Amino acid sequence: MVLRVFSLIVREISYSQLLTHLMEKRIGQETPLTVKQKPKDFIPIADDGFQFPFGGEAACRPIDNGWYVALGLGEGRYSSSDIKKHLGEDWNLKGKNDCGESIFAIANGKVILAGYEGGCWGNVVIIRHQLPTGEQHESFYGHLGALSVSAGDEVKRGDVLATSLCSNCICGDPVPCHLHFEIREEGCPDWGNAGPGYEVDNRGRVLPSQFIDYYKTQACFGVFLQD
Ligand SMILES: [Zn+2]
Repeated sequence: MVLRVFSLIVREISYSQLLTHLMEKRIGQETPLTVKQKPKDFIPIADDGFQFPFGGEAACRPIDNGWYVALGLGEGRYSSSDIKKHLGEDWNLKGKNDCGESIFAIANGKVILAGYEGGCWGNVVIIRHQLPTGEQHESFYGHLGALSVSAGDEVKRGDVLATSLCSNCICGDPVPCHLHFEIREEGCPDWGNAGPGYEVDNRGRVLPSQFIDYYKTQACFGVFLQD
């Protein structure tokens, strides 16, 4: 009897050891599967919605919080041969020096370009965003000063991209500090590049304020443009 009980206990211990062993083996086998490599072209989903590229209350409602559009999308600039249209919105801060203003990511995404793009642009940032539908857009921020991000960074809505605006950008004449801001659709000929700022057609640009209003983050419900 004693022997039988002892034998049962030994079997019980062996069985539990076997189970432990199997579980460890299983866990050991599954561990590498859980470390998934992100594909190089991975673009984070903008599942937190969109905001304006400014801080504080201006993130939801730039108008009435100091900012205004000095030059809108599609407004003309006359040259000797043709009329070129503005490819984004120029945002200025009313009655203040804009040069020390920080600029923020409008939604989750990946930094495609961050750096100096010549005297007229100064520093620029391009972020690529993916909507939950899989559709992609780019936000482009021109005439920036000191940058806080690098190409390849994944950013969240509201992350700081730059801590100042360009105070000495030269486009023929020196440009006073302001943000040149574009939103582009897939197929835009300047996808992934700074682009010309003005062109004879709107080249795959959408109206930034309207786009942000449509896809606004829940944090801006009730305080947004038309609300
Ligand atoms: Zn502009």
